[in-house]
Amino acid sequence: MRLLIAEDDPQLGDGLTVGLRQDGYAVDWVKDGVAADLALKTETYDLLVLDLGLPRLDGMGVLAHLRERGQALPVLILTARDATGDKIAGLDAGADDYLVKPVSLDELAARVRALARRAAGRAQPLLRHGDLVLDPAAREVTLAGAPVELSTREFSLLQMLLENAGRVMTRAQLEASLYGWRDEPDSNALEVHIHHLRKKLGAERIKTLRGIGYTLPKP
Ligand code: CA
Repeated sequence: MRLLIAEDDPQLGDGLTVGLRQDGYAVDWVKDGVAADLALKTETYDLLVLDLGLPRLDGMGVLAHLRERGQALPVLILTARDATGDKIAGLDAGADDYLVKPVSLDELAARVRALARRAAGRAQPLLRHGDLVLDPAAREVTLAGAPVELSTREFSLLQMLLENAGRVMTRAQLEASLYGWRDEPDSNALEVHIHHLRKKLGAERIKTLRGIGYTLPKP
């Protein structure tokens, strides 16, 4: 999953970026509303964390433009303490959830997981595929009950494939969700991650569609 954080407070923005990267997300961080608007127009994100008090274009403006363009990605707004009016206005303008500053990284991570789950049309927190189970909150994978050790990227890739089981995921879609601006993926990095996943989970689980991408067939 690739997230955009729009936050002008350097300490908070840095903390959120580092924390969410540790959780395996590809994260881009912008510090004003115009940069957020541009990034949202030109890149593909799965979720936006949006501070309302941003320079150049405030968070409400970013949100209004986003929804006017028909972009449906989940938006989590960050509001100042006791700013009830901000929360209501943000939710009514198309935000999906809010968090009051000071932000707890654990709570933010849990809300991001919940929003991602709802965006994927899934109420069940665990992802299952036959005897394979992925727990996004605990960041654990088991195969027939036995734990499987995955790297951060392998975990993210597997989660993306499980969220879209039965659908073909193109290389571009998978790479967009794995890599942010700071990462320059090697041309064969995706193949390497898939190769490792197959070694750990069984060669048959992930199918290659030559020249197109990969799919996890419905079990
Ligand atoms: Ca701010």
